[in-house]
Amino acid sequence: NRRIVLASRPQKAVSAENFRLEQTPLAELADGQFRVRNHYLSIDPYMRGRMNDAKSYAAPLGIGDVMIGGTVGEVVESKHPGFAVGDKVTGMFGWQDYDTSDGAGVRKIDDARVPLTAYLGVAGMPGVTAWYGLNKIIAPKPGQTVVVSAASGAVGSVVGQLAKLAGCRAVGIAGGEQKCRYVTGELGFDACVDYKAGNLYADLKAATPNGVDGYFENVGGDAFDATLSRMNPFGRIALCGMIAGYDGQPVPLKQPSIILTMRLLVQGFIVTEHLDVWPEALGELASLVAQKKLRYRECITDGLEHAPEALMGLLQGKNFGKQLVKIA
Ligand code: NDP
Repeated sequence: NRRIVLASRPQKAVSAENFRLEQTPLAELADGQFRVRNHYLSIDPYMRGRMNDAKSYAAPLGIGDVMIGGTVGEVVESKHPGFAVGDKVTGMFGWQDYDTSDGAGVRKIDDARVPLTAYLGVAGMPGVTAWYGLNKIIAPKPGQTVVVSAASGAVGSVVGQLAKLAGCRAVGIAGGEQKCRYVTGELGFDACVDYKAGNLYADLKAATPNGVDGYFENVGGDAFDATLSRMNPFGRIALCGMIAGYDGQPVPLKQPSIILTMRLLVQGFIVTEHLDVWPEALGELASLVAQKKLRYRECITDGLEHAPEALMGLLQGKNFGKQLVKIA
């Protein structure tokens, strides 16, 4: 079994030295356990946070621990009555070829109508994140304007498409012309602002003629400031992520007083603390994927040994779509 462990904690940006590839023998299965062969590993921004020894919503990884991560794979050996060889499953099986499990936190998945990899993106945790922030925090009404940053990514792409399905004007913020063209062309957003073009405030103003009622924040920094300046009274902000600061960069707010003057609701959330909505959200998302009403794009890195590069790339915005690693 090949596995990648946390070798050291990054000081600022993640580097290859922070990881170590190890070989371990496969353990014997105990009664009530099964073995999973991981096929795809999901690479997510939260992994950067777990590499720090800092106070957060979840405990940090220890040095030498297998890197945490969601995977999809197949049961290859079983002494568990509920899981048979050949079952497709998703769970937190980490950066490794195989893992054993007693079934806790593991979900069987059906890849007949929804491809296996989608369970790590649009029909998995990132999709539920989008669903929760949009429906439970922003709760937009038809005709309202919803803005989302990191719009071409796993979470952002779903936010805008669900907002469109809810009858809203959906506006994305993304880095580069190619990502923006995808967001409006393929995903059907009404507009997308390229923050790298250098006119973020003016371009966002032009894209939001009626102001902004809901903002789904994934990035922080300039995107947050620019969108705050466009918020309508009583607007809602779902504070989902601030990736611009994950490597330790400061992400100050220039005008927090707008929260007061516009009487805004700002709500941070962690999707894994809302497990009660997961069945409803996953059902809806999988059904929309099967009906081709939700589109998505994947960025697949080949080989477990390249997972560190995939995470480093994600934290620099190099991914275009949901970042995955093909393990088997
Ligand atoms: P994405 O697929 O969106 O990939 C990350 C993207 O962030 C990059 O492609 C890049 O897109 C964008 N980005 C913008 N600014 C920066 C920057 N300064 N440095 C690096 N990247 C930048 O990732 P996800 O959809 O998986 O995650 C999106 C956000 O949602 C993250 O902040 C993540 O932490 C958060 N999240 C929160 C959860 C929760 O429970 N609260 C659960 C899941 C995700 P571009 O090129 O357009 O800038």
